[in-house]
Amino acid sequence: MNKIKNITVIGAGTMGNGIAHVFAQNGFTVILTDINEATLAKALQTITKNAERQLAKGVITEVVKQNIFSNLSTSTEFSASVKNADLVIEAATEHKEIKLQIFKQLDEITPPHAILATNTSSISITAIAAATKRPDKVIGMHFMNPVPVMKLVEVINGYRTSAEVTQAIVALSKQLEKISCVVNDYPGFVANRILMPMINEAIYSLYEGVAGVEEIDMIMKLGMAHPMGPLQLADFIGLDVCLNIMKVLYDGFGNPKYAPCPLLVNMVTSGKWGLKTGEGFYIYTSGSKEIKPVNFKPWR
Ligand code: NAD
Repeated sequence: MNKIKNITVIGAGTMGNGIAHVFAQNGFTVILTDINEATLAKALQTITKNAERQLAKGVITEVVKQNIFSNLSTSTEFSASVKNADLVIEAATEHKEIKLQIFKQLDEITPPHAILATNTSSISITAIAAATKRPDKVIGMHFMNPVPVMKLVEVINGYRTSAEVTQAIVALSKQLEKISCVVNDYPGFVANRILMPMINEAIYSLYEGVAGVEEIDMIMKLGMAHPMGPLQLADFIGLDVCLNIMKVLYDGFGNPKYAPCPLLVNMVTSGKWGLKTGEGFYIYTSGSKEIKPVNFKPWR
């Protein structure tokens, strides 16, 4: 197995900037790429803000902070960004067709030894691998949000992922000071197979008028010791991402228990995607500090 040094992260949204951050922090050479120039600029701002917070908390030193930025570059040039990669981590939008297209291109452009990983929350690794001629080198490397803080990496073996590639990704996760859990490739894997139906059920509870936003979140926070209520967590993840994952579970298992709540569908359709659009189950003003529950009456 070649030494992994050059990393390309595809997609600089919520997850991509955090993934690029932790690799750069741990001494890897990272290119962060996106189709959207403005997203790359915003990603650099986010990485700067998060690195400053890490420094203030004593999590990193000033030298490590400087290294993050010397190890990291950004680009909108897809081919140039991936041609020397030892490992690509795709963190683009959660749409199967987008991912299949990206992996087909990656297979054509990246060096033959390159491992092609996806940060997908739920889309089949085996299906993504089938878009390439190297399914043994395709694997799920599912980071948790926010990436610089959360310890877990869910490593997902596709049907044809080689044991050597799995071992390499487990070892790499350790180098990033993360803890990995290896699972198999079935819809939602483990994390989202359990988390998303809970979030969907919280949205159903709101939709059916069982309780309001604050009550639902408070019950899960105080009653179940969750650090964040399910509706606030949905806003944090992105309601568009949540809906896409529910659709994958619904299609993958063919079981009506995974049907996305119609309220979630309406909110996504109307552009209320949570924190990233400034409004979801809560309204976000001045960054994420001031959170006011939306005055939401679904039964009206
Ligand atoms: P996001 O919408 O915040 O960002 C996606 C980015 O991908 C956008 O900036 C978009 O411009 C870019 N993009 C789309 N097509 C592209 C292409 N062809 N080439 C390059 N860039 C492209 O999404 P996100 O929340 O960061 O999610 C990214 C991936 O991570 C998804 O697969 C998602 O399921 C997964 N994930 C998300 C979370 C979460 O909490 N949001 C957690 C774990 C995993």
